[in-house]
Amino acid sequence: MAAKLMVGNWKMNGSLAANASLLSEVLAGMGGKTCRAAVCVPAPYLAQAQALLAGSALALGAQDVSAHEAGAYTGEVSADMLRDFAVRYCIVGHSERRQYHGESDVTVASKAQRALAAGITPIVCVGESLAERDAGQTEAVVKRQLAAVIHTNGHCISEIVVAYEPVWAIGTGLTATPEQAQHVHAVLRAQLQAATAHADRVSILYGGSMNAANAADLLAQPDVDGGLIGGAALKASEFLTMLKAASR
Ligand code: PEP
Repeated sequence: MAAKLMVGNWKMNGSLAANASLLSEVLAGMGGKTCRAAVCVPAPYLAQAQALLAGSALALGAQDVSAHEAGAYTGEVSADMLRDFAVRYCIVGHSERRQYHGESDVTVASKAQRALAAGITPIVCVGESLAERDAGQTEAVVKRQLAAVIHTNGHCISEIVVAYEPVWAIGTGLTATPEQAQHVHAVLRAQLQAATAHADRVSILYGGSMNAANAADLLAQPDVDGGLIGGAALKASEFLTMLKAASR
């Protein structure tokens, strides 16, 4: 298995000044870290981040991509446009997109397909709501969400990254226990193994209130290959502590 992958999701936060100071602090503290790392920035800041990250070990990511190739889709950003800014990763199917923008499993699968076609690694988010967990539907929900992506992208499914993000843990301060995370990650790994002989190449990240205090325990689980980090990625010292935990 490759080195752990730690990805910051800035969501709709930042400014030219704040980004410059956050990235310079993170880059200054990254020496010697051996995990893979990336930040997914808001689309208007891709050019700024591309320039600041050039030649560094911190990869550039986007938070969303259009399911369409090009044309009359006002406000959308295509995979080819992301590639123009040397974007390496793109989050697709984040629960906030599924919830607030009505993105279906099919749309998420199309977005992953567009990213892959442009040479960008989609970070496919799956996760259950609290009601679904309480109803014992966690496995069925995450398997349904991943199955749509496998169905559309089966031939290159080993090139995706998966992020298990229980919706009830995102931005709430509630975190899945390491055992809860491992259980779902193992389910996802088995699903990938049934789809490809190269399932071990797929990094399965955990996301949901991961922070400097809980990262090491989550990352110690055998099928937790890294983290997708929201709030804690906006604080350089905290993000750096998590990169250190992932580099052990
Ligand atoms: C996320 O945005 O993907 C996320 C996991 O957020 P947080 O770490 O703030 O829960």
